[in-house]
Amino acid sequence: MKPISFNDLNGKVCVITGGAGVLGSSMVRGMASVGMKVAIADINKEIADKVAAEISKETGATVIGVETNVLDKESLKKAKIEINDKLGEIEILVNGAGGNSPQATTKVEEMTEDNMDKLEDTFYGLQIEGFDKVFALNFKGTLLPTMVFTKDMLKNKKGVVLNISSMNSYKPLTKIPAYSAAKASINNFTEWLSVHLAKVGIRVNAIAPGFFITNQNRFLVMDEKTGNYSPRGQKIVNNTPMGKFGEPEHLQGTTLFLLSDISDFITGIVIPVDGGYSAFGGV
Ligand code: NAD
Repeated sequence: MKPISFNDLNGKVCVITGGAGVLGSSMVRGMASVGMKVAIADINKEIADKVAAEISKETGATVIGVETNVLDKESLKKAKIEINDKLGEIEILVNGAGGNSPQATTKVEEMTEDNMDKLEDTFYGLQIEGFDKVFALNFKGTLLPTMVFTKDMLKNKKGVVLNISSMNSYKPLTKIPAYSAAKASINNFTEWLSVHLAKVGIRVNAIAPGFFITNQNRFLVMDEKTGNYSPRGQKIVNNTPMGKFGEPEHLQGTTLFLLSDISDFITGIVIPVDGGYSAFGGV
């Protein structure tokens, strides 16, 4: 029996959308550390190039930045041509672009008799444009890149897709109904697509990260003035059995596991990386 390792990933070509972000860039670091060739496909080309150059320098791996908008099929097709040209055929896709919007976030966690006359702070004050943005970025922004970037995998009858879900896909969090529903749709789509593509050699799985402090949620979990946790941030820590927020590096092991042939009989699952949050009933 061969020793178990991630060696099969060495030299494999991966595209990660949103790879210039906080969690995405840590996943890129993990992939580069095992010799994968990575294209960071991000709407922010400047940051994508910067992150790619940093990680290339640190690891010696080939990492490039490619400009793309996950909501625009033409831009994705253009990015694919550039990636094929610079790195070769795409063998792995990580759908990392995603996020929430303040326009689809209520100011209060629940309605009470005390706040029910301030409707703008509640469900009734949410902006439908915020819902559109959040559903587009998370759902359509996973669907379209998958249509475009898995074409080489289809031809070679081998490949892996990894989607990024969230804790709120299992149970919605207060305040963020659009983001919760959009991430629930990612779990559902992961299962659907895994079945659809199983016989043509493409595996489809997802990671559900727990709570990590990043740009998209900092305004919800930290008190900007004091630098301490907000009451909501403290509540998250209290409900995470390991008693802390995650560090982006915590996603690397699960990412490599799901991308590698080590998991080649695994498709259609969502793995929580959450310090125990999803296992805890709150009491
Ligand atoms: P981030 O905001 O740091 O990074 C997101 C990246 O996506 C950015 O580089 C941004 O430029 C890029 N992007 C945005 N719109 C794009 C578009 N239309 N086309 C291409 N690229 C685009 O976010 P993050 O915290 O690293 O989150 C990464 C993923 O993990 C997201 O799907 C997010 O929903 C999910 N997630 C985050 C947390 C958390 O605690 N931060 C928890 C669970 C899930």
